Amino acid sequence: TNSVAQTDPELAKAIELELGRQRHEIELIASENIVSKAVMEAQGSVLTNKYAEGYPGKRYYGGCQYVDIAENLAIDRAKKLFNCGFANVQPNSGSQANQAVFLALLQPGDSFMGLDLAAGGHLTHGSPVNLSGRWFKPISYTVRKDDQRIDMEQVAALAREHKPKLIIAGGSGYSRIWDFEAFRKIADEIGAFFMVDMAHFAGLVAAGLHPSPFPHAHVVTTTTHKTLRGPRGGMVLTNDEDIAKKINSAVFPGLQGGPLMHVIAAKAVAFGEALTPEFKAYQQRVKDNAQTLAQTLVDAGLAIVSGGTENHLMLVDLRPKKITGKAAEAALGRAHITCNKNGIPFDPEKPFVTSGIRLGTPAATSRGFGKEEFKQVGALIVEVLDGLSSKGEEGNAGTEAAVKDKVHALTGKFPIY
Ligand code: PLP
Repeated sequence: TNSVAQTDPELAKAIELELGRQRHEIELIASENIVSKAVMEAQGSVLTNKYAEGYPGKRYYGGCQYVDIAENLAIDRAKKLFNCGFANVQPNSGSQANQAVFLALLQPGDSFMGLDLAAGGHLTHGSPVNLSGRWFKPISYTVRKDDQRIDMEQVAALAREHKPKLIIAGGSGYSRIWDFEAFRKIADEIGAFFMVDMAHFAGLVAAGLHPSPFPHAHVVTTTTHKTLRGPRGGMVLTNDEDIAKKINSAVFPGLQGGPLMHVIAAKAVAFGEALTPEFKAYQQRVKDNAQTLAQTLVDAGLAIVSGGTENHLMLVDLRPKKITGKAAEAALGRAHITCNKNGIPFDPEKPFVTSGIRLGTPAATSRGFGKEEFKQVGALIVEVLDGLSSKGEEGNAGTEAAVKDKVHALTGKFPIY
């Protein structure tokens, strides 16, 4: 009965401010979403109190009969959603899901291949500052200079040259469809495992709007909080019984102790939601809205990396307007449009400055934005960026304030929580 507001007003204030930010700003960070109240209710439940090391039916603690129901629901729904035979729903994050695969299938020092971070890969796919790059030997493939799409010939050549034990497809800033079949062929040729990290586009896969990594991938990892619209967390999927056993041991006791049962319960809720026709319709809108946003920006003279998008996100190349990602992120932020600066392939700017921003449609689509709203969002972004182009780094305060008012009018029409 003691609410946070009563017991801890200082913290309650931070939560209230964040709620206000989410309500009134337009969220375009491609990796974020707005979960249902049911997901939040499960995550805020008494399951947070329970230790449940092990797996359903084989726990190292007593009193697990009810959390077992929750975990089994999450597992069964995940398998149904992605049409596969095994799911481990315990990873605390997408990074830990990826670490579980490394622990299960590789030895320290082994080489593996992933998309270069600078071309849209993820930290956990071999960045030198990440465990994957420090304890293993990453070989990065990248995109072609001319069309900024994955260079499958380079992937094949690097694979033949370095004979990595694992090849990873998937990333955080790639707006095109991955050719899983071609990756698997290359992996088979050199006897490597093929892993797909579908963290970004898992929701589209669940809805049948993006090719499934199965049957091509030996193992699939994902986060549960991006397009999939669940609680923050990770998951590992496979159809291979031997890999499944190794993944279970890698997650627990290899990497983690007690699983976050309240988060697993929230995953079950989210997967249940993802199995509905409404979710499929939502994902279709996510994709359609990305098309609309990209087209609006292109019509206004901006460039989209690779020329467009086939999923929920896009990298906007700001060089036509002679502005940096850092300045754009800050100016849009002042106008209450939230996004992140992002390097574009072969970016001439430093990683902290960049020449691009990454935009995604999942969160704003969840609150109800459709084609008309995304046309407006695109126009508002252009207004802010043009203000930056004309006034320099500090931006055009008048324009930004005017756009902020329009943002509030728009978000006011689509209330959340
Ligand atoms: N894999 C990909 C492709 C991602 O984009 C991300 C998140 O940004 C992750 C893994 C890591 O997920 P988490 O932030 O939950 O560790």
